[in-house]
Amino acid sequence: MATSPEIGRIVDAIRARRRFVLSSHARPDGDSIGSQLAMAYALKALGKEAAVVNVDLAPPPLLQFPGVADIRVAPEVVGDFDAGIIMECGDVSRTGVAGLEKFFLINIDHHPGNSAYGQINWFDATAAACGEMVFDLVRALGVPFTSEIATHIYLAILTDTGSFHYSSISPRTFDISKQCLEAGVDPVLVARNVYDSNNMGRLKLFGAVLSAMQIDESGQIAIVYLDHEMARAAGGTYEDTEGLINLPLTVKEIQAVVFFKQIEGEEYRVSMRSKGDIDIGAVAKQFGGGGHKNAAGCTVTGAIDSLQRTFIEKIERAIDGRPADH
Ligand code: 5GP
Ligand code: MN
Repeated sequence: MATSPEIGRIVDAIRARRRFVLSSHARPDGDSIGSQLAMAYALKALGKEAAVVNVDLAPPPLLQFPGVADIRVAPEVVGDFDAGIIMECGDVSRTGVAGLEKFFLINIDHHPGNSAYGQINWFDATAAACGEMVFDLVRALGVPFTSEIATHIYLAILTDTGSFHYSSISPRTFDISKQCLEAGVDPVLVARNVYDSNNMGRLKLFGAVLSAMQIDESGQIAIVYLDHEMARAAGGTYEDTEGLINLPLTVKEIQAVVFFKQIEGEEYRVSMRSKGDIDIGAVAKQFGGGGHKNAAGCTVTGAIDSLQRTFIEKIERAIDGRPADH
């Protein structure tokens, strides 16, 4: 188990307080949902009050997991709390939930570039998922490792490692996963619930987006694009694209993927993925975003053709291991 001085401080802060509000980033993923709910179950086991508040709904496949249906979806915190526990957010504004700043904040994150906005800041970029950190905290709190808590920790790890694909994986990842299975997690059921419970619109949308996929001149970068019109025509929604970005990487030659999703007009949400040592996080950072070496994102505005050219150029540099220039 990792020993960090912050864990002790967080344990003391939790013991001394009773009512907690938990939050994580907008458009929550498996790690944000799993980390928040594992923590919420642990707090409840200690006799504390724990409300989870997110600005966006959990992705539909995750609604089948324990406690997810009870997450409050709201743009602001209502009610009084003794502390806020914010997971997975480089800054509190990433929650999209107003009113959290006024509480005593415990900031738990594994993304490089955390702004240390909390009264306690626990940051560990070596964790493959925020769920790995929550595991250590649950153990340090002395709470029984129930199957609900273990399921959420495992969900966090499974999804944030891209089903055990990313370079952030360490022996600790498997040690924690082993303990999750020993606590009663059924890995086959979790994988089926996460990956095999889609609707037909999603499959058709995947087909449409992948048919329109482009490959750069080097043959190593896949460029995928989606706008509202394409989604409507395919009968799917933007939420249905979760996971799509990983598919081009299944082609041996493809080293990186960049996915442009139109928000409105010339504003685009950009998601990127890469293999091995290619630091896509550094690329996202140049555009005011962030993330990890193999998974990152940002929001940009401009003409799509020129945006695509710019990103391809930066990603080619990242593939060659050349330093970024501006
Ligand atoms: P996704 O492509 O799934 O939206 O994001 C991949 C990873 O990059 C996630 O770990 C996410 O937290 C991070 N990320 C995505 N967009 C942004 C952004 O705009 N700013 C920052 N700081 N991180 C981002
Ligand atoms: Mn994460």
